[in-house]
Amino acid sequence: MESATVQEEIAVQNPATGETITSIPVDSAESVAATVARIRANQPAWEALGFKGRREWLNKLRDWLLDNADRVADTLQSETGKVRAEATIETPYLADQINFYGSKAGKFLGEQKVRPNSALSASRKLRLRYSPYPVVGLISPWNFPLVLSLGDAIPALMAGASVVMKPSEVTPLGLSEIVKAWQDEIGGPDVLAVVNGGAETATALIDNSDFVGFTGSDVTGKKVMARAAETLTPVSLELGGKDPMVVLEGANMERAANAAAWGGMLNSGQMCISVERIYVEDGAYEDFVRRLKEKVEVLSQGADGEVVACDVGAMTMESQLVKVETQVDEAIAGGATALTGGKRGEGPGQFYEPTVLIDVEPGMSVLEDETFGPVVTVTRVADENEAIFRANDTRYGLSASVFGPRGRAEKAARRIEAGAVNVNDMIFNMLAPSLPMGGWKESGIGYRNGEYGIQKYCRSSAIVSPRMLTKNEPLWYPYTPSRRELVGKLTNFIGGRGKRRFGKK
Ligand code: NAD
Repeated sequence: MESATVQEEIAVQNPATGETITSIPVDSAESVAATVARIRANQPAWEALGFKGRREWLNKLRDWLLDNADRVADTLQSETGKVRAEATIETPYLADQINFYGSKAGKFLGEQKVRPNSALSASRKLRLRYSPYPVVGLISPWNFPLVLSLGDAIPALMAGASVVMKPSEVTPLGLSEIVKAWQDEIGGPDVLAVVNGGAETATALIDNSDFVGFTGSDVTGKKVMARAAETLTPVSLELGGKDPMVVLEGANMERAANAAAWGGMLNSGQMCISVERIYVEDGAYEDFVRRLKEKVEVLSQGADGEVVACDVGAMTMESQLVKVETQVDEAIAGGATALTGGKRGEGPGQFYEPTVLIDVEPGMSVLEDETFGPVVTVTRVADENEAIFRANDTRYGLSASVFGPRGRAEKAARRIEAGAVNVNDMIFNMLAPSLPMGGWKESGIGYRNGEYGIQKYCRSSAIVSPRMLTKNEPLWYPYTPSRRELVGKLTNFIGGRGKRRFGKK
């Protein structure tokens, strides 16, 4: 007798307490295909609603998110182990995205008249229009379970696409809760869905989508691109980083040290754009290091609740905790010093102590590979040139920061090879949806936010029509000698400059 098929399940844990919260079923490849087919069928009606109609629905989602911010934060906190302050920043970010793309989508995607560049193209009306990919598949990581999934779904939905999201199998609960509310409480059109699982589920989503937006590690990003290449499906890849911070002599040292402590430890360092490498000019080094150590060693860490207010939360994944531990242990074994931290925090949850490392050397994995934990390295450099050289000496190029006297810092910022550079500031570009954000080098392909952050979900079509309807055109048949002569004269006149316009040399 055949045994009944048992559906695979994923256990979701609270990393701050070690407790299992619940288990969720995994979507098979067939189930992903069925979900995509269902929402694909609903996409044309969604597109037909127009910008105004779609904005009305997304405004309802925004209101729901704001009204239920605490409920959502509870779920996020339990599945990520974040501290409360960090679990509550995702819903306002989403509200901002809805407001931004709700008001700008028409401008970014509306049909545009295009100016002709020559007398030849001036004979035609030139227009550009955008049509959404019917199904956008989004694959996302666990560090910001909503910002990096629903945050990208918002522009796609505003563009008129339907969206299927596959959250990280480690943190699937918050997103599923919102999509359920979209269906059951808001009554939104069935154009937004979630599928759950790991690599197999994600691969099925790539195979069935018309555009894939991926956020995650560079290792997985390369697999996503390779898979999408099989069906020539376009991708955008938002990948890892190894963000440098440059501190120049004359910087506001207190601000720089506070920024480094926050930028390095925020979300337990589990941010693609967290500070990982700090390069300080010789004359500022001692002062900066002393201040940074003081600020990091007083940070409180633990399972944050209503009574306790902690600064630094848990590490969401055990494997990530081991990676951080290995990098730091190797660095210390190689001669580095932990001024504070440098080891696991106390359990029962998964914690790593906020850590400041000095005396690190090129070649150490803590300087070469993404750490993605509450660890910063500080390196003394001779001058600005060395700081910039070292900051750029990496395969990553996501974002960076420069602290120093305004003029020098602004100039130095323009020499850094990264998708965003904050000057005397930290991570602020993420809070400005009008600015595109994307990685250079192996930190990614494409951008989120800004104009491109919505245009990428569309195909463009050039619409061309003649200003005057004549019976025939000089370029068309028949190819007679007199026509050839006429075309030759015309092309010289249009393409040539000076005497050559009139066939003279
Ligand atoms: P990950 O690459 O391990 O997983 C990301 C997603 O890919 C998950 O949903 C996972 O299930 C899925 N996946 C796994 N195998 C796959 C496969 N073969 N094909 C398709 N999808 C597959 O990353 P993670 O550990 O979840 O997240 C941490 C990484 O994300 C870090 O490198 C971090 O820098 C990066 N990140 C980048 C940004 C950005 O905007 N650039 C933002 C946040 C995180």
